[in-house]
Amino acid sequence: MTITNSLLKVRTELEDNLRNLLGIPVYLIELDAFALPCGCSGATINIRGFTVDDIEVFEEHILKFLEEATLKLEIQPSFLFARLIPGTAEVASLNARMLCDSCYRDFARGEGKQPRPDIYILKLEKNK
Ligand SMILES: [Zn+2]
Repeated sequence: MTITNSLLKVRTELEDNLRNLLGIPVYLIELDAFALPCGCSGATINIRGFTVDDIEVFEEHILKFLEEATLKLEIQPSFLFARLIPGTAEVASLNARMLCDSCYRDFARGEGKQPRPDIYILKLEKNK
């Protein structure tokens, strides 16, 4: 399967899973795979109709769906987080990232689920 076919399939599956779980019409408007100059890579899922309250209630399930979805894209994320629209409870995107060493150090330094007002951490795997 080509990368775009995989992205199409995973987008639909994840949207269905989240809709069934939450019982609301969340909309995955775009699923992108990315590579950054620093060495980070991963996937960004732009989402609408989804709030940080939904994450707090269903965090365990959402994390499981996200990990399953990204593994299908051969992404083994060490860092999974939601990007929030600052000053609101709206989630703009879900993000799965295989962190480079430098970004790992930056994020590992933060405390708690919301080290920054625009980030809600679902999982940050600590280096051994
Ligand atoms: Zn990086």
